[in-house]
Amino acid sequence: MFKGILIEKDDAGVRAGVEELTEEQLPEGDVTVRVSHSTLNYKDALAITNKGPVVRQFPMVPGIDLVGVVEDSAHPDYKPGDEVIANGWGIGEGHWGGLAQRARLNGEWLVPLPEGMRPQQAMAIGTAGYTAMLCVMALERHGVTPDDGEIVVTGAAGGVGSVAIAVLARLGFKVVAVSGRPEEADYLQNLGASEVMDRSVLDGPGRPLAKQRWAGAVDVVGSHTLANVCASMNYRGIVTACGLAGGMDFPSTVAPFILRGVTLVGIDSVMCPRSERVEAWRRLSHDLDLTKLETIRREIGLSDAVDCAGQLLEGKIRGRVVVDVNR
Ligand code: NAP
Repeated sequence: MFKGILIEKDDAGVRAGVEELTEEQLPEGDVTVRVSHSTLNYKDALAITNKGPVVRQFPMVPGIDLVGVVEDSAHPDYKPGDEVIANGWGIGEGHWGGLAQRARLNGEWLVPLPEGMRPQQAMAIGTAGYTAMLCVMALERHGVTPDDGEIVVTGAAGGVGSVAIAVLARLGFKVVAVSGRPEEADYLQNLGASEVMDRSVLDGPGRPLAKQRWAGAVDVVGSHTLANVCASMNYRGIVTACGLAGGMDFPSTVAPFILRGVTLVGIDSVMCPRSERVEAWRRLSHDLDLTKLETIRREIGLSDAVDCAGQLLEGKIRGRVVVDVNR
């Protein structure tokens, strides 16, 4: 028997709680992992609270991230005792995820824990931090350098935003953090932001084109914020869009794209090819000051995760939530 959060659906509705589960209930897969830590991402919070259509089949163990030790493997790349990370590929959505003490997965989904990174640090990064790294890698791939000018990061005090700021600052970029929480200004500056801007400047309807300011952008908010970011990019600026914390709509015009040559790059972490994810995790172990994670992360136990999910959706949680599934 092992403990896990189970989301169940019946005539009374959808509910989530900690349950005793058996190995026989685990889904198919060629690697069984003894999970030590998982996380609470925006998507997990939507799944647990049933506020968004994340779960594709019931019952479901949520948790789009996990780290742990291989217990049993029929996959040639993994043997018992190996430390591994898994995130994305539909875990916690269509395949039982990380918010449990055991997981059975397809070995192709696993990434070895990078050398020098502790399991808690990997989960302090989690899908949010790895997505932030995918955004940074996309900016680089499109040729953005620190000499080009400022990078704007929206949803700055959240998981993606916090890690994006820390990585970009470490790489020498000047980062402007956009946040609705002025009380987190010290936190954001400590991560490396050179300026903190109130999100009200960007989150309402704006003009098709605004004063040019940014060489690059990491946007987790979507909606008017993404439209206003696009409108205020420098000529040939690069916008990476990965989130919808402010809405799924995109009330923009084509003006930034056809008059200023702005590029909008979509970032998806879930189905991202294995080679790119291995590279993202390698880069995180080099280009993120892991000591910064101590200010970004907070740790909770499995039974706290259900309450914490509601707070996360209300924007009350700063940084990243690591879940110790054994407490
Ligand atoms: P998070 O920790 O909850 O952070 C989201 C941040 O967005 C909040 O901290 C807040 O920042 C800001 N925000 C929240 N509601 C807002 C609103 N109504 N208007 C403007 N800003 C708002 O979530 P996360 O883990 O960083 O994820 C952020 C987004 O990226 C989510 O939409 C998530 O689904 C998405 N995501 C996508 C991928 C992918 O593969 N594409 C991967 C990971 C995450 P401030 O308090 O600083 O204003």
